[in-house]
Amino acid sequence: MKITDVRAFPVAFPLDTPAQDATGVWDSWNTIIVKITAEDGTFGYGEIGPIHGGGIAIFKAMVDDKLAGMVLGEDAFDRERLYEKMLGRGTSSYALGQKGAIVSAVAGIDIALWDLAGKSLETPVYQLLGGRVHEKIPAYASGFFGKSGRPLTPGECADEAKGYADEGFKGVKMKVGFGHRQDLLNLEAVRNALGPDLGIMVDANQSYSYHDVMKIADDLAAFDLTFLEEPLPINDLDAMAALTSAVKVPIAAGENYYTRFEFRDVLVKRAVNIVQPDIIHAGGIAETKKIAAMASAWNVPLAPHIHATVGVAASIHLLASTPNTLAAEYITSGGSYKLRQALYGQAFMADDGWVSAPDEPGLGIHINEDALERFCPAGMK
Ligand SMILES: [Mg+2]
Repeated sequence: MKITDVRAFPVAFPLDTPAQDATGVWDSWNTIIVKITAEDGTFGYGEIGPIHGGGIAIFKAMVDDKLAGMVLGEDAFDRERLYEKMLGRGTSSYALGQKGAIVSAVAGIDIALWDLAGKSLETPVYQLLGGRVHEKIPAYASGFFGKSGRPLTPGECADEAKGYADEGFKGVKMKVGFGHRQDLLNLEAVRNALGPDLGIMVDANQSYSYHDVMKIADDLAAFDLTFLEEPLPINDLDAMAALTSAVKVPIAAGENYYTRFEFRDVLVKRAVNIVQPDIIHAGGIAETKKIAAMASAWNVPLAPHIHATVGVAASIHLLASTPNTLAAEYITSGGSYKLRQALYGQAFMADDGWVSAPDEPGLGIHINEDALERFCPAGMK
């Protein structure tokens, strides 16, 4: 069945209040929704990104000027072959590289092809991925973004944590990287608010040094953390591996690694205890499934980075069909949460801290294309 149309919709969702983590501040949530249509009119949606702080025109150009031409006229079911055509060795996208942004762009097309295939076969994507392993997946609430250019106070952290516990989440992930004193005060406030039984994860967004973490490693361990995410610059795998073997808190990373080749190096070096590929960064559904399978050979669980719209649906189908699933990241406080509600309503909402893959064909989402038009940035219509 031939692919007859490929479209990339740029979307920018303005935030009421600028959000912050240890890497910076942003005032809108940007992404690209990909729509691929086949000759019989069946279509599927994918997602590229997300990109806070700009850059969506670059990703749109990657699709419009390069990747669309590589898949138009091809068989929509040939997902593996098309992935290799777009990203494999010696292909015509080679000049755009085999790491980084181009992988995100390819992921958007790959996810759309999975959605399309599922709709065409009247089968949910998780069935195409091997069937259901998990009826439901524990979701942890991820948030604690700073407001208006400053990190949260301990009191604000405690209030946010209590809100998540009231919604039924079994764990929360908070931002750190704002100085040891502030980080530990915020962490203490959250542990006191949650009590001893709920999980706490912390995300440093690469802002610590090896010695920073060693200085506070015992303090962190005392809070019984589920994991510490991206403590160090992610490309220093030797330092990550040394840290992982030196501290009691499990180390997690993955949102900034692309393709199975980078994850191979992470796993061979035993640089993490938990892998966190983002399906819309790491190469799409099949590539992330391969990363999960490879991690299982090291007995490393999968807790993917999920900060997306269509990517939420793709991630949950993957998690439902994957044995080494640990948990789903679930963001309710960011622009991506409001944007996905605008795009496809209440699907994939957490229920008492659990998420599950629906039995509808494809990804099981129905995109409101009026919302794609509404949130298209001025100058890109
Ligand atoms: Mg992170």
